[in-house]
Amino acid sequence: MANVIHNREACVGCGACAAICPKYWEMKGDGKSFLRGSTVIKTEHVLVVAKAECNNDAANACPVQCIRVEE
Ligand code: SF4
Repeated sequence: MANVIHNREACVGCGACAAICPKYWEMKGDGKSFLRGSTVIKTEHVLVVAKAECNNDAANACPVQCIRVEE
């Protein structure tokens, strides 16, 4: 199991996560990405997944490090 955590407020909308990991990430009309199926917990969007899969690549590609994967 892994938690994928997105600090959406810090997202600058570069699109890297959605390009690298479209299974989990999409761009929204407000110009920021969205972690598909995630739940808002306090200030972050959180999704529990069986395996991190491409979310690690998305986290590594994010220029403002607003994606975190906790395994
Ligand atoms: S890579 Fe980071 S800054 Fe770029 S859209 Fe995704 S979450 Fe936002």
